[in-house]
Amino acid sequence: MEVVRLGNDVLRDHAVPVEEINDEIRSLVEEMFDTMVKSDGIGLAAPQIGRSIRLFVVRADDGVKRVFINPQIIATSQEMCSYEEGCLSIPKYYDDVIRPERVTVQARNENGRRFTLEADGLLARVIQHEYDHLEGILFIDRIAPEKKAKVEEKFRKKAAKETV
Ligand SMILES: [Zn+2]
Repeated sequence: MEVVRLGNDVLRDHAVPVEEINDEIRSLVEEMFDTMVKSDGIGLAAPQIGRSIRLFVVRADDGVKRVFINPQIIATSQEMCSYEEGCLSIPKYYDDVIRPERVTVQARNENGRRFTLEADGLLARVIQHEYDHLEGILFIDRIAPEKKAKVEEKFRKKAAKETV
């Protein structure tokens, strides 16, 4: 599986809900975990592999593989914190992003079971980053506009080179 990069329109789409959690979705989930681990990532959202559906996978510092299908963030803490983020779709760029410290998320797993998870630390961070992908939002949208413009320009040039 190839991870799509900044500049690909699919990253900007508002992803649609997963209608049925079936074998096709389960094998997609497996492939997404493989791709994520191979790329040294800790989270991967379906739009990043070109599928505009509401699904992401996470494996944060506790090592637990978590699947979020049709997730909803139902609560966020008032306390904010800053953390350096990166994204498999924006390789080799890292920057500090301010987000709520804790989140509560509701979703279904790959077996269709509904769960509610209260997360803090790195897990809360990854969940928010991946959830953004489903909304067509990238972490560079949350940094200074002039820095974002530079990153976008760099990737535009790179993409132009690759298509020549
Ligand atoms: Zn990302």
